[in-house]
Amino acid sequence: MNYLIYPLKIMNLTQGYEAHGSHSKGNIKDYPIDDNGGSAKKDAYFYCPCDEMVIKKIYGVGQKAGNTLWLESTSPVITPTFEDYVTIMVVHPNDSEFKNKKVGQKFKRYEKIVLEGDDGNATGYHLHISVGRGRLKGSGWEENNHGAWVIKTTEGAVKPEEAFFVDSNFTIIKGTKNIPFIKLDKEQIGAKSYYVTESLNVRLGPGTSYQAINSLPAGTMVNVAEEKGTWSRISATEWVSHNFLTTKIPNKVYYTKKTTTSLNVRNKPNGQKLSEKAPLPKNTTVAVMATSGKWTKINENRWAFSAYLT
Ligand SMILES: [Zn+2]
Repeated sequence: MNYLIYPLKIMNLTQGYEAHGSHSKGNIKDYPIDDNGGSAKKDAYFYCPCDEMVIKKIYGVGQKAGNTLWLESTSPVITPTFEDYVTIMVVHPNDSEFKNKKVGQKFKRYEKIVLEGDDGNATGYHLHISVGRGRLKGSGWEENNHGAWVIKTTEGAVKPEEAFFVDSNFTIIKGTKNIPFIKLDKEQIGAKSYYVTESLNVRLGPGTSYQAINSLPAGTMVNVAEEKGTWSRISATEWVSHNFLTTKIPNKVYYTKKTTTSLNVRNKPNGQKLSEKAPLPKNTTVAVMATSGKWTKINENRWAFSAYLT
């Protein structure tokens, strides 16, 4: 389920939207919050809060104005009050943080997107975050009668508590400025998401008598569609032993891609073709552990050509 969750690991609001009166009381409104991530240090990240987001716009680098990033979900998300696309505006990361950011860049759930900063004469390191329902509209923002630049989306700005669930397994709450966020437990939010606990064979059926077509490293996130005995189905045709899955989020999470064709596996980038659990059939789930040039590491000493992964 594509729940939209609060994007910081520690919620410590320094200002709610009531304190942003020029935003929340103008003729055109949005409802920004400032979060310093729990400390005065520059150490808090904005993490991808749904299955996938894409950078739609970057503004302000090298200018006096506060650096601003527009992120849009690539599919509808579930919030406490609606199910729709969502667009989020994030202000104040420093110029250096944008060096490796590009419009069109995509991020998966729980991936770090951007570090807090103080660009635009902010008082202390923090992120200024506002949310709109729907997709980015026009230039993504609009100046109101108080001179505040408010987010502009197809369905309009929403309050943070109408947009974000707080995933208790991901975010520690330090300060909410009395905003009534709704908590979501792991049982609800990730009922079907599991993580591989050690390198695990993927088979074409629920048992060891079925052919092993690939292996997934520890930390791979898989979605379980069906269970049969001690076996779990992770795609239309792929099964893994449930004994090596956990709901506990590991320190290092690997997301997956699928092969778009029958695909060779090599021992290193452009290295020797392997015969064990290879070639991978079309539509095989592979972990993305790392990339090097045109190659993707799918497990220890197993690499595949990135152009045939989606
Ligand atoms: Zn602010």
